[in-house]
Amino acid sequence: MKASVGGYARATDLRHALDLLAQSDGMGRVLAGGQSLIAAMNMRLSTGDLLVDINQIAALKGVTLDGDRLRIGALTRHAEVATDPLIARHAPLLRRATDLIAHAAIRNRGTIGGAIAHADPAAEFPACALALDATIHVDGPDGPRDIPAADFFEGLFETTIQDGEILTAISLPIAEDGEWQVIHELARRSGDYALAGLCVVRRKAGHRIVCISVGSHPELVPDAMARMDAGDIDGAVVALRAAIDPPSDTQASAAYRRHLIGVLLQRAAADLNGEPQ
Ligand SMILES: Cc1cc2nc3c(=O)[nH]c(=O)nc-3n(C[C@H](O)[C@H](O)[C@H](O)COP(=O)(O)OP(=O)(O)OC[C@H]3O[C@@H](n4cnc5c(N)ncnc54)[C@H](O)[C@@H]3O)c2cc1C
Repeated sequence: MKASVGGYARATDLRHALDLLAQSDGMGRVLAGGQSLIAAMNMRLSTGDLLVDINQIAALKGVTLDGDRLRIGALTRHAEVATDPLIARHAPLLRRATDLIAHAAIRNRGTIGGAIAHADPAAEFPACALALDATIHVDGPDGPRDIPAADFFEGLFETTIQDGEILTAISLPIAEDGEWQVIHELARRSGDYALAGLCVVRRKAGHRIVCISVGSHPELVPDAMARMDAGDIDGAVVALRAAIDPPSDTQASAAYRRHLIGVLLQRAAADLNGEPQ
């Protein structure tokens, strides 16, 4: 089945894209890599009258270092995240995550902004963004907004982006000296969405843990983080398993996912006790 959509427009710059969305009466859909949007439209899980193609907007591209923050344009493709030297140095979690996302063809088109705006609970980049304490930058009819990742993800495929707004970039603090950033997950086959996964970041201020595929949206897990801060790995595993509410589906039962998340935290903890990164 093919997508039912009224029209397509290629925006030349951000202002043009925002105007196109404003004129579409809430029926415009931002088209980035198209890897999730087009599939969802083909399956009638998403509808829209106008695809607003943002791929030519130069202001949404590029990775830059601004003092102690890294800014990653929304249109940065997964494949670029995988090879960008600034990301490898200052946010290695994102680079590692790309190894776990889909296949090369999808990574060549998919964008970090699209993945975060889409807010799939099984996706890696939304979890990474929260684990790294990123800020999500959006622009829209009421002007630009900067949203902490902790306030951005609201539910299953739900974010605080409003109709007519475009995610322009994310920014995040660069890794401190001695910071650890770890991602672990289990998928049935390489490139599949994870049955369960987690990101663990260890900073001077403490641990940050965010899970993948075991809830409706990325969330920090304060009890497990506090146990990790105290060096109590077993306690952290118990706290993490108690905190999550994983789904049961054709891929795995809730009980299996709950067991798995503890195993993944033990693996992450073993990494944290290994050689410095
Ligand atoms: C077979 C397959 C396997 C996959 N496996 C994985 C996986 O293992 N892990 C994973 O994380 N992902 C996976 N993906 C998803 C992939 O990473 C997508 O590329 C990504 O989720 C969406 O990025 P996109 O640029 O393609 O966004 P699009 O598909 O273009 O858009 C997705 C949604 O976000 C909105 N949007 C996009 N960009 C913006 C923006 N800048 N501002 C506001 N709204 C915006 C769109 O309107 C749409 O609602 C898979 C996809 C496929 C097809």
